[in-house]
Amino acid sequence: MASKLIDVREYTVRAHKRQIHTRVFNFVCKECNEATKRETFGPRPLYCETCRPPQVPKKSQPTAHKAKPRPMSYKSDTDLN
Ligand SMILES: [Zn+2]
Repeated sequence: MASKLIDVREYTVRAHKRQIHTRVFNFVCKECNEATKRETFGPRPLYCETCRPPQVPKKSQPTAHKAKPRPMSYKSDTDLN
């Protein structure tokens, strides 16, 4: 079988929607060491639903309290007369 090396260009995938499916993992929870199973979309979970409830709120993003720029009126000390 003939073979050769070709250059594969780097490319980016356009944003798109993809349907993904959950999988049920059987695993041992890292926290309570109980054999459990859990359905997740992503990788193998580490903790059972008791130790890490599914509806954990996402990281609360600390909203930086930035001072909004405000229009300021400057008074000049010098009179331009
Ligand atoms: Zn657990």
